[in-house]
Amino acid sequence: MSITTTRPVLAQLDSQSFDVAIIGGGINGTTTALALSKAGYSVLLVDKADFASGATGRSGRTLHCGLQYLAPQKSAWQFAANPREFFMRLGVARQTAVDYEDICDALPDRLRPMETAVPVFSHSAFSGWQVDIGSRIIKSFSRGRGGFRYRRVKPGSESASPFVDVLRDRGELRSIVSFVDQRFHWPERIAIDNAFLAETRGAVVRNFTQVTSMRQRQGGAWEIGLNDSFEDAGTSTVRARLVLNLAGAWLDRVLGLVEPTLPSLATSVKGVYFVTRLPDKFRGQGIGGLNRRGEAITCLPWGDLHYVGPTQTRYEGDLDHVRPDEESIRFLLEELAHFLPGLELARKDVIMAWAGVRPITSAPGHPKGKWLPYSVIHDLGSYGIANMISLTWGVLINHLSTARRLTELVKTKLPPTDRPQAEQQIGLGMPRTHSSIRIDEAAIRYCVEHEQAIDLPGILFRRLGFGWEGHLTRQMAELAVDVLGDVLGWDERRVKAEIAGFEDYLADQHLTGLN
Ligand SMILES: Cc1cc2nc3c(=O)[nH]c(=O)nc-3n(C[C@H](O)[C@H](O)[C@H](O)COP(=O)(O)OP(=O)(O)OC[C@H]3O[C@@H](n4cnc5c(N)ncnc54)[C@H](O)[C@@H]3O)c2cc1C
Repeated sequence: MSITTTRPVLAQLDSQSFDVAIIGGGINGTTTALALSKAGYSVLLVDKADFASGATGRSGRTLHCGLQYLAPQKSAWQFAANPREFFMRLGVARQTAVDYEDICDALPDRLRPMETAVPVFSHSAFSGWQVDIGSRIIKSFSRGRGGFRYRRVKPGSESASPFVDVLRDRGELRSIVSFVDQRFHWPERIAIDNAFLAETRGAVVRNFTQVTSMRQRQGGAWEIGLNDSFEDAGTSTVRARLVLNLAGAWLDRVLGLVEPTLPSLATSVKGVYFVTRLPDKFRGQGIGGLNRRGEAITCLPWGDLHYVGPTQTRYEGDLDHVRPDEESIRFLLEELAHFLPGLELARKDVIMAWAGVRPITSAPGHPKGKWLPYSVIHDLGSYGIANMISLTWGVLINHLSTARRLTELVKTKLPPTDRPQAEQQIGLGMPRTHSSIRIDEAAIRYCVEHEQAIDLPGILFRRLGFGWEGHLTRQMAELAVDVLGDVLGWDERRVKAEIAGFEDYLADQHLTGLN
């Protein structure tokens, strides 16, 4: 397979040594691989499936401006009673506000702005003027840039959100707050760009490569067993001075390869979203509120469409087969009907859906994990495992700052073997590939030959994004599979089987099919 693609042959990695081995090619693994390569480290980055096929490709994709974290759930007194919680939230809001502006500067063509409204009712946990103060705090955190364009209007105002007309409890409505959040369009592309930018800086990157064993040698370096998980095309053993276990929801399993008795670091919480079409007056407009369980519910723009979600259910099932189930879709439709009864959506209005598992930080007394703060870094030295670092609940919002923090921590443990490369600051001024892509043979061939795409979801969703647009056609799938077959030497039977497998994938993972 690797004859005409740049995907490394697994056997050729055997016995190679690296400064840092990164397990997990999601947004955090790929961005950190790039940061460490730039800092002069020799890096191996592997993912047991495709890059960004874990939580990164199943995310809610929102880049929040930070205001949400200052909102109390019950009443403003909640913060007076628990100042620690208030200061923690203030820290999260500050980091988010800074990251929001940094990501807007670094990746403008990977974002889509979303005008987002939040209704303030007489029975809400906060009043309008309190949100005004919160917005000033966020603006001061973002060093006055304040790209989130906060405003608050009365319900009857002409510039109020069109969602006002379909809200429940309109009589109780006091004002509408609105601001601009961003949607990552689509996060897989950011991760894949970063993986291959890391490769251009000397990192060895390989997808469908599972870490199956880990043994610490005398002196503290790691011996890591790798297995090709796509077609069982061989095994290999490599060495690394330090391991970054960035395996998201799977991180406990990876830790179990070393020490099966460790307490769980990550709690899996499943989230489901669906995509729907609303009347034209809602185009580009979003709204957020709380469902009857007091959890967030949002209806946000998705190109000409909208997406609704998420759910939050503790997940004990198969991490390798997370899917949008009908019960979750029903729950979302019911909660949306409660929040926005005027929309009158039904199951037939669901165009597509997806599901993912969040790797939330485990904590006693929190059955669904501890949701704040984000991006908690664990130095496994505190559990007696030297030279291993892990991360829980590393959200998209914080991926640049998380990669910087991980790089700084690695520097305290290990000097790089090479000199740092130019342009230290990751994400800023990086070359970008595929900012606007048409479906054509050349784009598909590039993904297969240079970006390790080896299946149809890898091309049509993760690398080119068409699957997410909601209008995948059979013609697109046939063109992609023809190129795959040509480069990878597949016969006609295999090509047909791939199309059939892709249709099953769409039905199972997205509740949709080919047009
Ligand atoms: C439903 C949902 C909604 C979300 N909404 C938002 C949002 O609105 N905004 C936001 O910022 N964040 C959001 N998040 C969070 C965010 O998407 C994730 O926290 C983030 O993508 C995690 O990235 P990661 O790189 O840490 O993990 P992942 O993307 O899960 O990557 C981990 C990788 O490790 C690989 N792996 C596992 N085991 C092995 C092994 N043995 N060998 C090799 N590789 C291995 C997996 O294949 C996987 O690709 C949401 C997440 C979900 C699921």
